[in-house]
Amino acid sequence: MVKVENTKSIAMSDSIINLDHGDPTAYEEYWRKIGDRCTVTIRGCDLMSYFSDVNNLCWFLEPELAEAIKELHGAVGNAATEDRYIVVGTGSTQLCQAAVHALSLLAGGTEPVSVVAAAPYYSTYVEETTYVRSGMYKWEGDAWRFNKKGPFIELVTSPNNPDGTIRETVVNRPDDDEAKVIHDFAYYWPHYTPITRCQDHDIMLFTFSKITGHAGSRIGWALVKDKEVAKKMVEYIIVNSIGVSKESQVRTAKILKVLKETCASETENFFEYGREMMKNRWEGLREVVKESDFTLPKYPEGYCNFFGKTLESYPAFAWLGTKEETDLVNDLRRQKVMSRAGERCGSDKKHVRVSMLSREDVFNVFLERLANMKLIKSIDL
Ligand code: PMP
Repeated sequence: MVKVENTKSIAMSDSIINLDHGDPTAYEEYWRKIGDRCTVTIRGCDLMSYFSDVNNLCWFLEPELAEAIKELHGAVGNAATEDRYIVVGTGSTQLCQAAVHALSLLAGGTEPVSVVAAAPYYSTYVEETTYVRSGMYKWEGDAWRFNKKGPFIELVTSPNNPDGTIRETVVNRPDDDEAKVIHDFAYYWPHYTPITRCQDHDIMLFTFSKITGHAGSRIGWALVKDKEVAKKMVEYIIVNSIGVSKESQVRTAKILKVLKETCASETENFFEYGREMMKNRWEGLREVVKESDFTLPKYPEGYCNFFGKTLESYPAFAWLGTKEETDLVNDLRRQKVMSRAGERCGSDKKHVRVSMLSREDVFNVFLERLANMKLIKSIDL
């Protein structure tokens, strides 16, 4: 519970807190406790070649990383890995662009392929599809409003960034050969949401960043059914960066292996730890928001196959709204809290996206400042 008498320390603490980006530093403490079990030693003569496995379609994928990815998905039960290609990327940011490129290229038309996502959407999709001004695809914004004919790609993020909802395609043209979907499952892990099914889509993106918090390693992977799509994605990555850092891959493999081992542990289960931490943060936030003009989405419970019980969702971002006609991003900025404007996510001024994955002390300052805003408003009345 947040105590409003803390306003004294709020006045004293003068620092700006940045909850605009989703830097996942919340998990540092866990990995500190794990200690040297994740330490990787790399000698000067190691990992020098461009190549990892010349027999693999994705020849820059380290075999031990491929193995660790398959084992982790197997243990968690969140995605099928059989009969598909694994493409490794410098974060799933690179893979999303590779997938958009591959699908657009294979569409083979002369007009740019439309790219859409249902609002509110992950704002980086806009930059990813507009920055290089490709003539092959075109960002067309909100999928809810999309009704153009011709080839299109829908980006489906589930649980969704920014609002944490479980998503499916909204354009929904199942029999249309020109309809392609990229599923971004960055947050489909048991600490954020119940694992209700083993996902089995054509292109599924995952990121190391949001599972364990190792965003700095810049590793993501795609599970791709179609060989031609996988090939074109690999080509894109070759042109873009001639593969992906081996040091990062080896470290990721090691940490994913330890993560998988902890899944069987009663005391060290990472997902249990993460879920508990997220639960506490969400309860703290809902307590502050209660009986205020702020709003938060409600999430249905679901049966989690990983934990074997019915659980709530604790998304990595809070989609904070207000009942007032105000510019919430500016209201928060005045309290020295940086958040992402709802407008950037295809929504409105009354909503912002706030990261729930900061370090604990930063998160607590955020709660104090939010409580303070509520207090100021009630005094105004
Ligand atoms: N997709 C979604 C929905 C995300 O939230 C993020 C990270 N903010 C990414 C992709 C990109 O992750 P990465 O660090 O692997 O590039």
